[in-house]
Amino acid sequence: MEKPFAITLDVGSSRANKTGSWRTERPVYVHRMAPCGHACPAGEDVQAWLYNAEEGDYEGAWRKIMEENPMPAVMGRVCYHPCETACNRAQLDEAVGINSVERFLGDEALSKGWQVDKLKPPSHKRVLIVGAGPSGLSAAYHLARLGHHVTIKDAGPIAGGMMRFGIPKYRLPRGVLEAETQRILDLGVELELNTPVSNVLEAKQEGHFDAVFLAVGAHLAKRAYIPAGSASHIVDAVAMLRSMEHEEPPLLGRRVVIYGGGNTAIDAARTAKRLGAEEAIIVYRRNRERMPAHDFEVEEALEEGVLMKWLSTIKRADPGKLVVEKMELDETGWPQPTGEVEELEADSLVLALGQDTDLSLLEGVEGIEVSDGVVTVGSNMMTGHPGIFAGGDMVPAERTVTVAIGHGKRAARHIDGWLRGNDRPDEPERELADFDKLNVWYYADAPKTIRPRLDEVRRTSTFDEVVFGLDESNALFEARRCMSCGNCFACDNCYGVCPDNAVIKLDPAGSYSYEFDYDYCKGCGMCAEECPCGAIQMEPETI
Ligand SMILES: Cc1cc2nc3c(=O)[nH]c(=O)nc-3n(C[C@H](O)[C@H](O)[C@H](O)COP(=O)(O)OP(=O)(O)OC[C@H]3O[C@@H](n4cnc5c(N)ncnc54)[C@H](O)[C@@H]3O)c2cc1C
Ligand code: SF4
Ligand code: SF4
Ligand code: SF4
Repeated sequence: MEKPFAITLDVGSSRANKTGSWRTERPVYVHRMAPCGHACPAGEDVQAWLYNAEEGDYEGAWRKIMEENPMPAVMGRVCYHPCETACNRAQLDEAVGINSVERFLGDEALSKGWQVDKLKPPSHKRVLIVGAGPSGLSAAYHLARLGHHVTIKDAGPIAGGMMRFGIPKYRLPRGVLEAETQRILDLGVELELNTPVSNVLEAKQEGHFDAVFLAVGAHLAKRAYIPAGSASHIVDAVAMLRSMEHEEPPLLGRRVVIYGGGNTAIDAARTAKRLGAEEAIIVYRRNRERMPAHDFEVEEALEEGVLMKWLSTIKRADPGKLVVEKMELDETGWPQPTGEVEELEADSLVLALGQDTDLSLLEGVEGIEVSDGVVTVGSNMMTGHPGIFAGGDMVPAERTVTVAIGHGKRAARHIDGWLRGNDRPDEPERELADFDKLNVWYYADAPKTIRPRLDEVRRTSTFDEVVFGLDESNALFEARRCMSCGNCFACDNCYGVCPDNAVIKLDPAGSYSYEFDYDYCKGCGMCAEECPCGAIQMEPETI
């Protein structure tokens, strides 16, 4: 299959006299930062791995992802893909299906058994990680590859954190999570389960650790004060979802009301449906536009028959029924009570009002700063206590798996620098390849590939995965929709349009496939104008 967009122009025929001294500007080949990679919280170089994938080099593409993120098969299922929101192609037709290609590559690696190697020899330094959620696992992976001895202690009976005990199976099959976790442990990472850490300094001292990465997440359910009759059945969403991993599923009854407007509320409602509830109703105090849950998750829940009661708060819970008050939004969008109440039948009430972090393991640790219930860290992810780093849900940031994985990586790189005495600030970012840097005339229309889904009947009666992956031809097509923003994809346009034949083709194995012969370039700028992807910049002549 050909790339759908590349066209090749004929090579210019004249080779005029040396003209360099006429120029006021000269063209320069550049590597700009594509918006997709810039938006990825795990810091993946999306443009680069899509380039490998569109050449059919799936292993190369997967290895490129693995430089930054050890869980592509998980990402391809649960990441909210901010990369696609930022993708330039969205301004042309539809964003590239980056997340679905990532899932294809992640699954391909699992089926082929691809493994990763260590990058450095043993450093003889010991790092303690507290928490085996995405942030802890990501830090462990990078630290182990950098040659450090890593021990993870987790309070739970199995690794994964909220990926295991929050995100339901119909979005993340456990076999995928376990396989990507095992690949990390295979790097020699020690995992101690059922081992809560109650005092971090003691644990550090006892194990003779040189540094610590804390990634304990946020597991304490927030409560709302709702007057309740003694026999009313009220549970936390996180506790309910957690109990799905036990042998006995929770008993919720025929009519289940879920209180909250985030993604956890949606997962709780969809799970209740699958457990046999005839009605699962989400009660939320604002409207759909102001709901924090992602729109696609709300859509999937509605398709499965979850009901929504917008602009409502729960005033009281009694056995079998709730008292609900109608709200209205004021001019600032804040919900205000109206005094109008109604009764809602409910066998159980599930509270999905967010989570706080349990920071008791940090009590008395000098230098730790806590603000709004989370731990303050610097840009190197270190807390105010030297040698103790933190990331994921327990630090101030968006609470997603991908952010947690990105924190784990950043912390690992700074812990490595700190242990070796050569910690440096993060590299400055490259200039962004915005949409206005592209010449989109050259890209053909190519609609996004739709991911197949489980049929609706089976969606509400089983915990089978809802969204399917792409097959190889679809994944290849999707990768080839990428416009390679800001990075040369060897289309030959510059070589073809230059009126003075000042573009020289180099060995494609080099870092650029082309270079300018400035003895002949007049600085007319046609190459930069006609480069589809913005990989040529005109710079002022300095002499
Ligand atoms: C229902 C639900 C659905 C979600 N869905 C998505 C989604 O689809 N996509 C997405 O990107 N994000 C989603 N999230 C958010 C995401 O799961 C979290 O942001 C992410 O897991 C945070 O990672 P973490 O490593 O910081 O913490 P966690 O995943 O919470 O892991 C922390 C680990 O630390 C352990 N621990 C805690 N205290 C101690 C201690 N004292 N000693 C030892 N171990 C300890 C815990 O047992 C746990 O294993 C969801 C969250 C929930 C609740
Ligand atoms: S991890 Fe998420 S944001 Fe990053 S490339 Fe993958 S889908 Fe996009
Ligand atoms: S078109 Fe490709 S390189 Fe450009 S933003 Fe989208 S995925 Fe990234
Ligand atoms: S620099 Fe631009 S125009 Fe030249 S070959 Fe690369 S992508 Fe094509």
